[in-house]
Amino acid sequence: MYDAEVNFKFWGVRGSLPSPGKDTNIYGGDTPCLEITAPKSRIILDCGSGMRRLGNALMENPDDRETFILLTHPHFDHVCGLPFFTPIFIPGQHFRIGAAEPHDMRMLMPRLFCRPFFPVEEAMLGSDIDYFQPAPHGEAMLNDEIKLTTRPLNHPGGCTGYRIEAYGVTIAYCSDTEHVDGETDQNVLDLMQGADLAVYDSSYTSQEYPNHVGWGHSTPNEGIRLAELAGAKRLALFHHNPTRTDTQMAAIEANAKEQFAGAFAARDGLELTFQAAAVAAA
Ligand SMILES: [Zn+2]
Ligand SMILES: [Zn+2]
Repeated sequence: MYDAEVNFKFWGVRGSLPSPGKDTNIYGGDTPCLEITAPKSRIILDCGSGMRRLGNALMENPDDRETFILLTHPHFDHVCGLPFFTPIFIPGQHFRIGAAEPHDMRMLMPRLFCRPFFPVEEAMLGSDIDYFQPAPHGEAMLNDEIKLTTRPLNHPGGCTGYRIEAYGVTIAYCSDTEHVDGETDQNVLDLMQGADLAVYDSSYTSQEYPNHVGWGHSTPNEGIRLAELAGAKRLALFHHNPTRTDTQMAAIEANAKEQFAGAFAARDGLELTFQAAAVAAA
């Protein structure tokens, strides 16, 4: 028997547009990219600009984990790092790339790696890529370690929320999504139920939100409400507005912690380690 470790890392936490600069150094300016590792598997959630640094890290410290790249939806901020993810160009590397319906990565990849937008065409990628397409509302085992639950989120053009479970550790990823005032989004609740970590779209403050109804994003207060209802242990405010300075982020984070002790604001490079259930050695 050994204790399986499940690790989590934020490589990009900013929404809409990369926003580097002196005002965003602390929380980070890269767009969404998350990494979950279990002993035999790696799940990369979204391919925002933070994926470039993840690729560099994997080039420096390669391993033989089965690697899944899972996209919520193909808005620019969630795909712009993929053409700069070095391992995808390297022969011998293997990736399973998927997005739930209505998105199909097999169709989208040739449009992303396509001239005149990018010089390298999809057929020229050196790595070995398998495509898959989970159902938008379902449960499936990705392999013998990882259980994936999907639910549709409320976002223009369609978006999928993911719940990843491995060795009793549960991580819910709910970005990009908008709440409806006075209603509870059962799909988000399903994903967050009892989660060790819930990552939630917190693009707007409650004061800003009324001017952005229909834009597909939510607030820290709604994240806190849903995390409490779902019994989630920790809540990461995520998809920070590109105009938000570190000073403003710190105030939002402090306010969230006052309401919910497990709340924090996601920042680039933040790592969490979860001690998972003991498993029998193979
Ligand atoms: Zn986004
Ligand atoms: Zn989006």
